[in-house]
Amino acid sequence: MRTDPRPTLIAAARQFYKMGWMIGTAGNLSARMPDGSFWITASGRPKSQLTTDDFVLMTLDTCRGKVCLAPTQSHPQKRPSAETSIHAAIYRLFPDAQACYHVHSIENNLVSRFIIGDALPLPSLEMLKGLGVWEENPQVAIPIFANHLEVSRIADEICARFKATIPQVPALLVRDHGVTVWASSLESASNYLEVAEYIFRYMVASQKIGMKLG
Ligand SMILES: [Zn+2]
Repeated sequence: MRTDPRPTLIAAARQFYKMGWMIGTAGNLSARMPDGSFWITASGRPKSQLTTDDFVLMTLDTCRGKVCLAPTQSHPQKRPSAETSIHAAIYRLFPDAQACYHVHSIENNLVSRFIIGDALPLPSLEMLKGLGVWEENPQVAIPIFANHLEVSRIADEICARFKATIPQVPALLVRDHGVTVWASSLESASNYLEVAEYIFRYMVASQKIGMKLG
């Protein structure tokens, strides 16, 4: 990725806001640069009206993500998203990941309660191909992590689990919190998010009519 990713991230945030996935200031989007740094949405900014000033450039020098360059000197109060450590963990775990998107939707919160365990089986829908799963009747589960007030704890648990077991899909849920996807391009990250949210909507709808998923 050689060009400034922020205009694409701004357009994506506006679209996700319209979908009801980035209500208020919720959620965060990031994109990695060729030198390994990454742009991430600043904390507390309304996602329907971001500008290029609403991002912070981070370095991966520390796993927690340390500010290496403020977008403008006139906004020293700008802070990166509180969930930057999760993005940093994803970029460290997956060298091919160029974008990482995290949103809070009603459906992704609901499905995270469908199971007590640490992985949620997904229905074997055609749409799974959109997450890179090309199998006959695939048995795929999305990892679920516990939500912690201290976000770095979530990031540490993601690091520990994914180092031991590579997830089947480029996505994870944090229970009662939201979904995070990662991809080798910004366009693919948007597609993954749309597909994941479609599957979650399907699961919620099937629950409403009492349909058994398989
Ligand atoms: Zn969040």
